[in-house]
Amino acid sequence: MNDTRHIRHGRAWATYRRLIAYTRPYMSRLIVGTVFGAVFGAGTYALLTSATKTLDRVFDLSNLRVVLATAVLLPVFAFVRSFAQFLGEYLVEWVGQRVVMDLRIETFSRLQRFSVGFFTSSRTGELMSRTLNDTTMIERAVATVLGDLMKQPFAFLGSVFFVVSLDWRLALGSLALFPVCIIPIAIFGRRVRRHAREGQERLADLSSILQESVVGMRIVRAFGMEEHECRRFGAQCRRFFSRIVRVVRAKASIEPIIVVISVLGLLPVLFYAHWARMPAAHFIMFAVAMLTLYEPVKKLSKIHVHIQQASASADRVFELLDTPMGVTDAAGAVEFKEAVSDIAFDRVAFAYEREPVLADISFNVRMGESVALVGSSGAGKSTLVNMIPRFYDVSSGRILLNGSDIRRFTLASLRARMAMVTQETFLFNDTVANNIAYGRPDASRDDILEAARRANADGFISELPKGYETNVSERGVRLSGGQRQRIAIARALLRNAPILILDEATSSLDAESEKLVQDALMELMRGRAVFVIAHRLSTIIRCDRILVLDKGRIVESGPHAELLAAGGVYKRLYDIQSRDA
Ligand code: ADP
Repeated sequence: MNDTRHIRHGRAWATYRRLIAYTRPYMSRLIVGTVFGAVFGAGTYALLTSATKTLDRVFDLSNLRVVLATAVLLPVFAFVRSFAQFLGEYLVEWVGQRVVMDLRIETFSRLQRFSVGFFTSSRTGELMSRTLNDTTMIERAVATVLGDLMKQPFAFLGSVFFVVSLDWRLALGSLALFPVCIIPIAIFGRRVRRHAREGQERLADLSSILQESVVGMRIVRAFGMEEHECRRFGAQCRRFFSRIVRVVRAKASIEPIIVVISVLGLLPVLFYAHWARMPAAHFIMFAVAMLTLYEPVKKLSKIHVHIQQASASADRVFELLDTPMGVTDAAGAVEFKEAVSDIAFDRVAFAYEREPVLADISFNVRMGESVALVGSSGAGKSTLVNMIPRFYDVSSGRILLNGSDIRRFTLASLRARMAMVTQETFLFNDTVANNIAYGRPDASRDDILEAARRANADGFISELPKGYETNVSERGVRLSGGQRQRIAIARALLRNAPILILDEATSSLDAESEKLVQDALMELMRGRAVFVIAHRLSTIIRCDRILVLDKGRIVESGPHAELLAAGGVYKRLYDIQSRDA
């Protein structure tokens, strides 16, 4: 038990050190900020000293020269001290905020590079929470800690220096208590870390529930589960609350305990002052100095707690940053530069976990050919097409592009040759034009119009309130399933990639939409190497070849007429489909 505690404790520092490493690029600002922190500390000392000098002679106002000198010096010290305080604080907190910005950007770009498998095994809310909530937590703690660390030790030293010069015996006596203050700091610091970690986990649960209930809003309504969702959210809120309250309690305990210790420490001072017949002015200034000591001691005592709290969140962020990315460029990967001539699966097998999902898949598709994948749901059609852009890598066998294993090429150059139209047509919160140009930000207006025309989308887009400049999530803009699909097809047309992967929508479109979408798809498929998960008979029939998948294996393959004549699995599927149609 003790051992694990020790390790956990050690890890807090390791985490914090890693966090601090992010300040390295801004070291010059930190150093300048520290210099100003030192000036601030020296200013504290100077202010206290000159105030004492004045108090010493306060009853001797006849000495105008002293009064004048002090009247000049005091404001100067105050000004220098305040100026240093401002610059020190500004520079150092700037670094704190900047570090968090860097961390947030790094987390987001990491998320962009994770392979697809990562996302199917993570909750969206959890990822959002780590990117936003945990970094916010770090932001507060890092900015505070750095700010205090650069300034408060000097303020502390300035005050200490002053009390020592005033009466060193008294100073030593009253400062002896400070080490005692470390005990509550250590105890409560550890608690803060534990509860903060749990709190952040609950907060992630909250994000997940929120995200699910918004995305799944229709289902929630349709099944009348609003109350259930509210209760779920409420319960999670209470769990978060109970954690965060414990953090608050631990944080709030430290200062009062230290104050009690300090006051106990002041009692002997009182008697000493009486015994040593200390001048009243000195005693007052001593008390003032002890009060100015209070601020830095308070702040310094909280640093440890802030570190514990930040490291709880930093752990969660670093865990994310340290998660293996899954599919990445191989060492020495090269750009794929040639023209695509053919893609081949060579005895490909694949398993997500242990269960084999694809086995012994071999076929090839030449440029200009289209292959339809058909089979019952769960047969492995999506899995198969997901291997082409390397969303997942094969477990065994190879996928060859122009005869070379696709793992030899960089992901970017490989995917640059592909376009994908999926069932759920995802539109970004942006204009129609930008949604069409999503994969080709450099596309000209003419290119976009041309793609939309070829995708049979020009007509309805022109009728939108602001035409191509209409934001797709604007109030009052309601795009039908068929319209969204045609935007997605225009997007793929504009990308003009030689390899096309289509996951045809099953959503029933009205007859007119169906025809428009179908024609758009035919236009898109022309002259490319096409893999299509086909649901519509009209698409299947027009493909050069049909692969029938069953439990991850190709059980039949050939053109429509041939398979129909063979009277196997395909014939049965065809009969069911045509009966439904
Ligand atoms: P289809 O597209 O033909 O409906 P899929 O390729 O989606 O079939 O699924 C094939 C099999 O792989 C199914 O048994 C499914 O449960 C499994 N599967 C799909 N995606 C995952 C995943 N991310 N993790 C684990 N198993 C999966």
